[in-house]
Amino acid sequence: MGKPIVALATPPLKSALAVVRSTGEGVFSIAAALFQKKVAETEERSSFVGYWKDENGQRIDQVVVLAYPAAHSMTGEDTVEVICHGNPLLSERIIDSFLALGARYAKNGEFTSRAFLNGKMDLVEAEAVNDIIEAASDESRKLALLSLEGKASSLLKPVRDRLADLLSSVEVGFDFPEYEEETALSVDEAKSKAKSIKQEIDSLIAEGEEGRIIKDGIKVAIVGRPNVGKSTILNALLKEDKAIVSEAAGTTRDIVEGSVRHKGLTFLFLDTAGLRDNPESIEKIGIEKSLNAVKEADAVLLVLDEDKPFDEEERLVEGLAKGKIFLVAVNKSDLLREKKADGGRIYLSAIKGEREPILDALAEKAGISNGAFARPSLSSSRQLSLLKNASSDLDEAVSCFESGAIDLASSSVLSAYSAVRRLLGEEATLDLSEEIFSRFCVGK
Ligand code: GDP
Repeated sequence: MGKPIVALATPPLKSALAVVRSTGEGVFSIAAALFQKKVAETEERSSFVGYWKDENGQRIDQVVVLAYPAAHSMTGEDTVEVICHGNPLLSERIIDSFLALGARYAKNGEFTSRAFLNGKMDLVEAEAVNDIIEAASDESRKLALLSLEGKASSLLKPVRDRLADLLSSVEVGFDFPEYEEETALSVDEAKSKAKSIKQEIDSLIAEGEEGRIIKDGIKVAIVGRPNVGKSTILNALLKEDKAIVSEAAGTTRDIVEGSVRHKGLTFLFLDTAGLRDNPESIEKIGIEKSLNAVKEADAVLLVLDEDKPFDEEERLVEGLAKGKIFLVAVNKSDLLREKKADGGRIYLSAIKGEREPILDALAEKAGISNGAFARPSLSSSRQLSLLKNASSDLDEAVSCFESGAIDLASSSVLSAYSAVRRLLGEEATLDLSEEIFSRFCVGK
């Protein structure tokens, strides 16, 4: 058990109740000294009502204490939760009383990191604790819950086991060639196993990308020449006057952000300055910002106000949007005599508040399958980058098997195996856990 730590688990605001949480070696004795002896003797998860006192025996508040012996706690260590009245002055004094008897303030995410270090959850489940608290939509909350229940980790454990099998058969063949016929795989078999595990990992990546989109939303850069109606489109999308609309060309110099939920997805719109190369003015900065916004975005909405072929800058945007969702909207359709309606362009009149054509097209192009909303996935950037490492390691292994470089193939399989184990936290380094848990807030 670690040293006792203490933190406020609820926001430091006046409220009906507040929860002070403490875990680690000796927290039951601390509670016995500040509250009542019976806590120290409990072997079951139990609750007590009474007065919490400070280290000098002065009553602080009437509280409910929940005591969780190590075997029954989230952290895997003896844990005490003090539910007091929701006045920060009271919770602070209760925290001070823990500090006076040897506890220290918890660091960000330290409760969850102890749960991980004590084997109560793997790293994917621990990350889900943060995701569920940070979830900005019902859809992302549901996905985080699936991960918290261990369903995302259980997608990966069979992959880890298949990699372990492959690794051991390859290494047997490599280190003890005399056993090759009985235990080891032929090179061809090893190659096809590596290929099929890679396919499995690739489909986890594809599902993880869908999960990431549901969780984090889709960043859409709205770009186009000045005056085509970008700000008007943004206002229509957000149903409010957030961007400044002006008849003078080039008035939107800063990037405005706003988000819209549509068909279970969150779209974060970035309105950018117009595309026009005017080196004399602030416009130039705006143009750079536009192009950067295009690079950063997941999707690009290029706005025209005439149904005409792209000019040079528009072609540049199209080029930058390669690999992203790319949508061309012809605005001011109220002024248009005829719509060509080819080339997949969208026609709309933003000034009339039309926004469905854009939202529908974006949702369609995002191509999120219905199943993705209810499917566990490995979707954090850490998880996806480790999966991608494993996938390219296996690519490497396959080509090494092909060229007969079995020792190199074996080390690539080992590297894929290690990426998968790191993903689950089975090979976590201190840095890795710090990187993850430092993003949590204190008390989690
Ligand atoms: P931006 O520079 O691309 O952000 O363009 P604005 O949104 O500031 O719009 C430029 C001008 O076009 C304004 O006078 C708008 O009222 C007008 N405008 C925008 N959308 C439409 C539309 O759908 N129809 C018509 N007729 N005018 C529009």
